[in-house]
Amino acid sequence: MKDETRAVIGGRDPAAQSGAVNPPVYHVSTIVYDGVADYLERDNMREGDTVSYGIHGTPSTYALEQALSDLEAGPGGGHRTRLCNSGLQAQTMPMLCVLSAGDHLLIPDNVYGPVRGFAKGTLRRLGIEVEFYDPLIGGDIRRHFRPNTKLVHTESPGSWTFEVQDIPAIAAAAKEHGALTMMDNTWASPLYFKAFEHGVDISTQAVTKYVGGHSDMIMGSVTSTKDAYDRYVQRGWRQLGLCGSPDDCFLAARGLRTLPVRLRQHWTNGLAVAEWLMARPEVAEVIHPAMPHDPGYALWQRDFRGAASLFAFTLQERYSSLPAVCAMLDPMERFAIGSSWGAFESLIVPVFPAKLRTATRWPIEGRAQGQVIRIHVGLEAVEDLIADLDEGFARLRAAST
Ligand SMILES: *Cc1c(COP(=O)(O)O)cnc(C)c1O
Repeated sequence: MKDETRAVIGGRDPAAQSGAVNPPVYHVSTIVYDGVADYLERDNMREGDTVSYGIHGTPSTYALEQALSDLEAGPGGGHRTRLCNSGLQAQTMPMLCVLSAGDHLLIPDNVYGPVRGFAKGTLRRLGIEVEFYDPLIGGDIRRHFRPNTKLVHTESPGSWTFEVQDIPAIAAAAKEHGALTMMDNTWASPLYFKAFEHGVDISTQAVTKYVGGHSDMIMGSVTSTKDAYDRYVQRGWRQLGLCGSPDDCFLAARGLRTLPVRLRQHWTNGLAVAEWLMARPEVAEVIHPAMPHDPGYALWQRDFRGAASLFAFTLQERYSSLPAVCAMLDPMERFAIGSSWGAFESLIVPVFPAKLRTATRWPIEGRAQGQVIRIHVGLEAVEDLIADLDEGFARLRAAST
């Protein structure tokens, strides 16, 4: 079955719900039992198809988890998806589930910023050794392994600077060493990167972004191999009390039905805007892994099935002062200034990756403090977006002289 079909049917069972197309929203804390004997048995109930207490899973969460598992599924993976309250939790909580004091964790140097904060703060406080590595290291990651290396985190492409990681090489090296590989798969979503086909053990995403798709909810998902689930995630989720809210499950499932269509349009719109930017004299580089000039293109072509609409560009030095960038961006009409992404509307922000690195140098850190303009291309007409950018560049030029 193809993903477009899976996205439409996943987690739905109209016959079980009076013919209603969508699963109803269960607002649940208490579950009442037939008798004391049933109540005393509740912890032995099979997870995934029974309901014992609100946080352990309800028909609302099971339906979305099943739909996401169906899309993530690949050889050896997609066994079970669990939900949590944000994309950030989807990164941090598996780390808490897997790691113990004395363990060593490897994190790419371009990792989503708040994850860096969590690792340097909470994880180090708990006695976990945290080391940042060059995201482009590939199989040479083994040079960083220590006897106590337990988990290798990956994120590909990075969400500010878009380096594509050699996930199969990293995951194979980790497996050889007996470590687990975890991935932030938010950029590609389970449609455009099949994490389990590439050796990942725990695939996570900010459902907030493309799956939600409408800037109206926050949620994270964590899908694991059976082994990683049984050993770490299941128990951890229960002990940490993690769950998804029923209304957000409904919104995420609604977003999921149209995800394949939306993503295809995001991909096309994003590339059209990126190609237009390539020809602008104010632009120094366009950083987009699905364009042939990009250093990540070969890996993107090998491993990915499509491209997101989140990418970046840099400005020529003489056009890159912050006041000039503000003159360009502040009055924009189609591109809003904001940092979540994945929904129907276009966004644009300047970001400064050099500040967040410790293991590598951001190559252009000498120019305009390494400023990168990050763009999320939404579902508007490309012509309107380009017209907005064109007027923005006129303001940029005027403010730069
Ligand atoms: C936004 C984002 C997250 C966090 O998602 P929230 O739901 O906002 O917590 C994690 N990873 C990446 C790559 C993101 O862009």
